[in-house]
Amino acid sequence: MQTKLWTVDNYVDNANSYPQLEEAAHLLQQNQVVAFPTETVYGLGANARDNEAVKKIFEAKGRPSDNPLIVHIASKEQLASIIDEIPGMTHTLMDQFWPGPLTLIFKKKEGALSDAVTAGLETVAVRMPSHPLALKLIEKSGLPIAAPSANTSGKPSPTTAGHVYKDLNGKIAGIVDGGPTGVGVESTVLDCTGPIPVILRPGGVTKEQIEEVIGPVSLDTALSDEKQAPRSPGMKYTHYAPRAELSLVSGSREFIQSLVNAKKAEGFRVGVLTTEENQRYYDADYVLSAGRREQLESVASGLYFTLRQFDDLDVELIFSEVFPVEGIGQAIMNRLSKAAGGRLIQE
Ligand code: AMP
Ligand code: MG
Repeated sequence: MQTKLWTVDNYVDNANSYPQLEEAAHLLQQNQVVAFPTETVYGLGANARDNEAVKKIFEAKGRPSDNPLIVHIASKEQLASIIDEIPGMTHTLMDQFWPGPLTLIFKKKEGALSDAVTAGLETVAVRMPSHPLALKLIEKSGLPIAAPSANTSGKPSPTTAGHVYKDLNGKIAGIVDGGPTGVGVESTVLDCTGPIPVILRPGGVTKEQIEEVIGPVSLDTALSDEKQAPRSPGMKYTHYAPRAELSLVSGSREFIQSLVNAKKAEGFRVGVLTTEENQRYYDADYVLSAGRREQLESVASGLYFTLRQFDDLDVELIFSEVFPVEGIGQAIMNRLSKAAGGRLIQE
């Protein structure tokens, strides 16, 4: 398959008239698969109503079929077409965080969506992205769009069109290139179907921000206990992993440097994943910064980009600094732990 590449700038006013978006929307209506930027990471979109269209997403990504997809919408009217009931609390959350990186779980409307989207569950995950191109594309298609991250399953999520091209060229109908994404980690997945809202996946909207609006929420206990089955099916899979073996290190710079030295002495090519503040203190084969520790949003934004940079280098082992598990740090540490397959070295 020939994958089309459309380069589009992000000015909303222009976006209305982009012939590239028309073409991309048209392909979605024809049940083809198209990648597009969102404010979190690039998404791989298809008509959420059609089984064949949705199956193409799973095939292109090599995604396990028991891992449901998030349905993306461009208006609240669209929401009414896929779910029957909007619980009171979710109104408040939508008013506050939509459009934006918060995914809400609802009971689904019978027959409104392909069963492949929800992997057979009674519930559906929905979000309204805030990226102008994503909103315009969904609006133009007139469809609810199922869209997981546009990467090969297991790899770091894509934050540029180039990342998508590398993973999926020849496997999908097209890629809308709107430049690098901003938030850099995926949306927060919040289940409000029970009495107490539960965060199933930490992400772009923090626990603290949600609690400011609706009071206490809990975190799925499986997120911190590997023995439990997570309530979000996708959380059980290894994700985001670079090719080299990544280990997280909780300890001082000197301790991390001593680990690097020991592995270099054994003949390994070693990398360090750090921040701008600490970059110059390390001596390794490759020392890459994901962002500024003083501003954790920048680390979230640069995290996948940096993991993918390591994939372009001949590095064999990577040691990464850890981050405080609060605010956006919760999502950063969730992704890093998964990328490291749970490997954590304590000083
Ligand atoms: P991705 O599409 O890769 O951003 O991942 C979406 C995440 O949302 C995965 O962890 C899914 O398992 C999760 N998810 C999607 N739909 C549901 C649902 N109905 N209930 C719980 N988790 C869901
Ligand atoms: Mg993903």
